[in-house]
This record gives sequence, C-alpha cells and structure tokens, in this order.
Amino acid sequence: MSESFDAIVVGAGPAGNAAAYTLAQAGLAVLQIERGEAPGAKNVQGAILYADALERLIPDFREEAPLERHIIEQRMWVMDDESHIGTHFRSNDFSRPPHNRYTIIRAKFDKWFSKKVQEAGALVICETTVTGLLRDGAGKVIGVQTDRGDGAVYAEVVVIADGVNSLLARKAGFRAELAPKDVALAVKEIHFMPKEAVESRFNIRAGQGVVIEMMGKITQGMMGTGFLYTNTDSISIGVGVMLSDLMAQRLTPWELLEQTKAHPSVQPLLEGGEMKEYAAHLIPEGGFHAIPRVFGDGWVIAGDSGMFVNAVHREGSNLAMTTGRMAAETIIDLARAGLPMTAEHLAAYRRRLDDCFVIKDMKKYKDLPDIFHANNQFFTTYPELVNGAARTMLTVDGVDKRSKEKEIFACFRERRSLFGLLGDAFKLWRAFR
Ligand SMILES: Cc1cc2nc3c(=O)[nH]c(=O)nc-3n(C[C@H](O)[C@H](O)[C@H](O)COP(=O)(O)OP(=O)(O)OC[C@H]3O[C@@H](n4cnc5c(N)ncnc54)[C@H](O)[C@@H]3O)c2cc1C
Repeated sequence: MSESFDAIVVGAGPAGNAAAYTLAQAGLAVLQIERGEAPGAKNVQGAILYADALERLIPDFREEAPLERHIIEQRMWVMDDESHIGTHFRSNDFSRPPHNRYTIIRAKFDKWFSKKVQEAGALVICETTVTGLLRDGAGKVIGVQTDRGDGAVYAEVVVIADGVNSLLARKAGFRAELAPKDVALAVKEIHFMPKEAVESRFNIRAGQGVVIEMMGKITQGMMGTGFLYTNTDSISIGVGVMLSDLMAQRLTPWELLEQTKAHPSVQPLLEGGEMKEYAAHLIPEGGFHAIPRVFGDGWVIAGDSGMFVNAVHREGSNLAMTTGRMAAETIIDLARAGLPMTAEHLAAYRRRLDDCFVIKDMKKYKDLPDIFHANNQFFTTYPELVNGAARTMLTVDGVDKRSKEKEIFACFRERRSLFGLLGDAFKLWRAFR
C-alpha cells in the first residue's frame, strides 16, 4: 500500500463508521482501517443504541439494521445487599414508532454498519493494525503506517477513531496516558433464554424491551454502576467501576459481576438462562475535563479515543457517531472550499462540538466524576439508609408509624450528621446542576 486518499479513518466502531460513511457519501476517497477480523469483532457494549444519532446518518436504518428490542421502560435501582428501591418509567409513547432507543448486539450491528460504509463507497480493510501516524517535516499528519508489508498510506487528513485505548493518539502525544481515575473497567455477559421467557419476566410484548440501571452496594463502595438490558432472546448484564477504585480495593470486576448476578432482585431475572458470551472493556468516564485536544494539523479525534462518554446518562455510542459525523462534516466543508486540513481550519470541528449536545452535556456534568469519586457514601451509606427506611415503613409489625419514623431518623443521624447530610445535598446539586 502506498496510495493516497482524501481521508483515512482508523477504527470501525460507531465513531469510525459514522465518519467514513459521511465522508464517502460526500464523494471523498476514503480508506477505513480496522484491526479486527471484521468490524464489531473487537467491540463491547451493553448495548443501547440511541436512534437519533444513527437516524441523522441513515434515516431509514430501522428497515434493515439488526435491532433487538425497542425500549419502552427504564428502571433505576438503588440497591443494598438484600433489596432495591427505585424508579420505574414506562410509557406507551415509547411503544409508538419511530422508537427512540433499541438494544443491539454490537457484533451484528457493526457488521451491518460497515456494509453501509462500503456501499457508500469507502474502501474498508480489516485485519490491519495502524501502528503509527506519518508526518511531514513540519509535523503535519500526512498518513498512517500499518502492520502490512509496505504499509504506509497517505491522506489529506486522518480521523483517529481507535477507541478508548487510542494507542495512536497517545503515541503521537495528542492525548495523555489513560489515568485510572478517568476510565471504568466494565464486564458483561449475555444470558440466552427463549424470547417468551424474556417477555414474561419483564411484562413486555414482542419487540418491546426494558432497561435496568443499578447502583449501590453492588459496586462495594466503588464509583460505578450495573446494567441489565433485554435483547430478543437474551439478557445482557454487566457492571463497571472506576479502574482506580478497583486497583485500590484489589477486587476483580468478575467478582462484582458474580455478586450482582446473585443479588435477590437480579437472580430470578436470569434464572435458567445459558451464559454464552462474556467480555471486558474500558469505558472513558473521566468526563469533560478528560477530553483532549481533538484536532491538529492533518488529524481529528472522534468517539471514545476523544473520551466522549456521558456516563451519567449511559451514552457513548451516540456521542461516538455524532463526533464521527461532525469530524467528517468539517472535513467535507474544508475539502469543498479547497482549504488545507490544517489545525487552524480543523478547529471548526471543536466549534461544532461545542455547539451541540456532546460538549454541552459533558460540561453540565463536569464536576460529577470528582464528586462521586471522593464520596463513596453515595454508593454505600445512602443505598443502605433508603432501603432500610423503606423496609422499616413497609413492614407491618404492630409498631406505630411515628415510632418507625423516629427509628429511621435515628438511623440517618447515626450514619450521617446533619452537616454531612446538608453537605451531601449540596454536592449532589453541584454534580447535577
Ligand atoms: C460494557 C460496556 C457497555 C456499554 N454500554 C453502552 C450503551 O448501552 N450505550 C452506549 O451508547 N454506549 C455504551 N458503551 C460505550 C460504547 O461502547 C462506546 O462509547 C462506543 O463503542 C465508542 O465507539 P468508538 O467507535 O469510539 O470506539 P470502539 O467501539 O471501541 O471502536 C474502535 C475500533 O477501532 C479499532 N482499532 C483500535 N485500534 C486500532 C488500530 N491501531 N488500528 C486499526 N483499528 C483499530 C478497534 O478494533 C475497534 O473496532 C458501553 C461500553 C462498554 C464497555
């Protein structure tokens, strides 16, 4: 290989596919390079697909994309060791097309997405690893080096979409080394069972799905959450916690997942299922402050490699697709205007991101990672207190309700002073404001 392209896209996850698709649709000569034997082979996700981000690329995707179930109900569980207390939102609006969210299996979905990229005209090469960026004398990126013999390929611009580890961006000095406090390590399993079992367990009809997000004692005081998603004939279950917490506590994520699966609220939902797939993967959860510079002379960064994940709302793939699309739209504008792919011109990409939900949402929660990291009472004390309060009030045992209230207040006072409570309320306000 020593050809030249308008753009090279590294990686065939949601970010790389969105970028390559948009560029190829506009008629640019695009080469996309993926190290897996097929797109999706290396990718791990829960997985919830947010329709909006894909619809902006492929408006009729629902007619052919491999979708599992559309989500009609979202539960949020706060758990202690024996119970959970939570919210539960179910709406008939979510049953009516066009549906807003779907469960997907990434291995199938990424293959379909890649087919669309190829149909749009991009050249997609798999089983090829990009080992570095090529630069000219002035430092401008002019192409990539791959692990194939004669593996240099040249382009006007390189879209770096190689995921959370982003060896390329780190090696080139475009991004700092991954700090354990900025990434979560997540593990997930898929448990297969007849689709009728999925539907009866969650009170849903054919095609409908349920999401359960979990927090509390399941992460043993570490900053993190668990999830359970319904697929057509399987259930995905996973848990993710900050890598720095795991290192400090010397626990493995598999231990956490086993404990989550054994929780009395979770275990009956998985009963009888056959576990066929498991995987572990990092998630960039450092938030707004962890976002690196996303453009330079001849390069842009999109998706997880740019640390674009909104951990509060469990959104990652949509940020990946949106950043990939916006990187591509910036490149297309410059190409059409005959402007060179310099940092000065590619800065328009960052301005696009600033103006859309990606940066606005990440900025909104900019303080949250630090606050939750430093205050593990939100994952231990409060889940225990609120579950204990519910247990006390709902147990009918001849004790009058006023006495029960006093008992609950005494429990709260014992575990958290009034100043502590007020301080925590202020921290929550700061984290979510
Ligand atoms: C357990 C888990 C659950 C999640 N659940 C959800 C969810 O429900 N909803 C959601 O929206 N997000 C979720 N996410 C986040 C979501 O998966 C990511 O945000 C999304 O995959 C990022 O897309 P990406 O294209 O940037 O990176 P990736 O999907 O990681 O794709 C990067 C691609 O680049 C390739 N690559 C890497 N290095 C090279 C190289 N040197 N040369 C060539 N190719 C290379 C990789 O093989 C890979 O295919 C979850 C993540 C995890 C781990």
